Amino acid sequence: MPQTRPQTEQASLWGNDVEENLRIAFDSLPNKVQVMLFTEKGQNDVLNKAAMDLLRSFKKISDKIELSEFDLSGQEAKKWNVTSSPTLIFDADRYSIRYLGVPYGEEGRTLVGMILLLGFRTGNLSEQSRKVMEKIGSKREIKVFVSPTCPYCPDQAVNAVKAAIERPDIVSLEIIDIQSNQEIANRYSAFSVPQTFANDVLIAYGAQPEELFVLSLQKLEQQTVFIPETDAGIVETDVVIVGGGPSGLAAGIYAVRSGLKTSVIERGALGGQVATTPVVENYPGFTRVPGKTLVDILVSHALEYVQIFQGEEVLGVQPGPIIEVQTSRRKFLAKALILATGANYKKLEVPGEMHFMGRGVSYCATCDGPLFKGKKVIVVGGGNSAVTEALYLNNIDVWTTLVHRRDTLRAQEHLVKNIFSNNIEVLWDTEVVEIRGKEKVGEVLLRNITTGLVYPFPVQGVFIAIGYEPSVSLAKSLGIELTSDGFIKHDSNHRTNIAGIYSAGDVEGGYKQIVTAMGQGTEAALSVFEDLTHPYWTAGEESKSETAKR
Ligand code: NAP
Repeated sequence: MPQTRPQTEQASLWGNDVEENLRIAFDSLPNKVQVMLFTEKGQNDVLNKAAMDLLRSFKKISDKIELSEFDLSGQEAKKWNVTSSPTLIFDADRYSIRYLGVPYGEEGRTLVGMILLLGFRTGNLSEQSRKVMEKIGSKREIKVFVSPTCPYCPDQAVNAVKAAIERPDIVSLEIIDIQSNQEIANRYSAFSVPQTFANDVLIAYGAQPEELFVLSLQKLEQQTVFIPETDAGIVETDVVIVGGGPSGLAAGIYAVRSGLKTSVIERGALGGQVATTPVVENYPGFTRVPGKTLVDILVSHALEYVQIFQGEEVLGVQPGPIIEVQTSRRKFLAKALILATGANYKKLEVPGEMHFMGRGVSYCATCDGPLFKGKKVIVVGGGNSAVTEALYLNNIDVWTTLVHRRDTLRAQEHLVKNIFSNNIEVLWDTEVVEIRGKEKVGEVLLRNITTGLVYPFPVQGVFIAIGYEPSVSLAKSLGIELTSDGFIKHDSNHRTNIAGIYSAGDVEGGYKQIVTAMGQGTEAALSVFEDLTHPYWTAGEESKSETAKR
């Protein structure tokens, strides 16, 4: 007789596989994690229920999670000075860590990461970061603003949790979901995520590698350079890949499958630009898939093969028969290096853009879009990114106008049709002259290029999607030749002008599609394999690459 699966009392929030993995992870914790949940009926009821469902299901998974629930009007809330619903407080006797809102969506990673660190009672900071934390001599009150749709936020939130666990004597932390705590977000003029304040000073805009975060926390201002005092052990490998976007991860999979020992180094979030693409409709095999979902699938596939060193920044490279790669944590010794460093958002470079960054100016509709529900915004640009973002914003009830400097869009026809069928307003032949406001964006000054008319246009948000610039600072510092457009110059085997160093993905220019980036990464990895097994530099003069010379 066929066996049927036993039915669970209540459907799992995540599915049985995820639940089982969480159970294994939580059960292995040496210490219990105490969570206090504060709610008040009538204040954010939907979120209160979501918080209860989430935490109760965690408690059900493992008895290592101890949950106590309190009413906001009760004594306990007064004792802990809790005023917003829902609020979570973790291991209150030991640390000062609270979460205002519900850690769901992308923020589920913050919750799980936090529980694991608390269960082990370790900040799990690198040696370098611990040394910096030791030097901090006075109180640090950290606030990290996050949202459930932001793929970068958990990295920064977990950085802050690590600091709070490492120095409970001086560090207190509030992770604040910006959507359910708009009054606090307004007070800090935090209209993009993640943003990090310490002692009410903005110390980081965006997610940082761990070492830069702790340095910013120590100095109380945003830091961009970290010089390590010591290395955390040398990693000897065949290939180092810099960049954890589609090209770097595809290169990692192919390099390892070719039998090469490989390390991928990524200073920020994995997945590159795809992680913040609302919906991808042209990745063969998927008719429609959220960019972040595609990244999650790609990352879990890559992790089956390749070791990823996330949160480490490459500080310098010494080319040679053995290439030395110095990161913020350690040194790698490799036979080949693939630069898959991707591209950065292009700036409009108009007055007000930098001033209002994070206060109405955004480069990530997926992350910040939900904060503008019911508000009026413009999206600037006419390519696939601008059109995709305008459609996404319109879809989540943001009043969206597309501002484009020409009279036709360069985006794919299918996307353009959707702009018209959704009745999204388009201001043609129009450029942004200035972004204005007081505390936050209040209006933009627009100029009609054909008539010359300059006029104010009231908006609360400006989403800039005007393309990307290749991230070539590391390549430049190495003396790698660039094309006249600023991309890495390479031959058909992805070799650069420096022997042993290759390029892949958006740093090379070209079509800049997810599949082409992956193709470039794949080719670069196979090329490395060919070169290491049959070194072209030891063959006859005629077989040498035109560009690469030893
Ligand atoms: P893009 O294709 O280079 O388009 C940039 C747009 O911004 C253009 O319309 C350009 O105007 C405008 N622009 C550039 N500088 C400007 C400035 N200073 N002021 C005002 N407007 C400015 O960039 P993208 O849309 O970010 O796409 C980048 C790459 O990723 C492309 O290859 C694209 O196909 C790919 N992508 C694909 C998808 C998809 O397939 N679903 C989604 C996103 C991105 P002009 O037209 O006047 O030059």
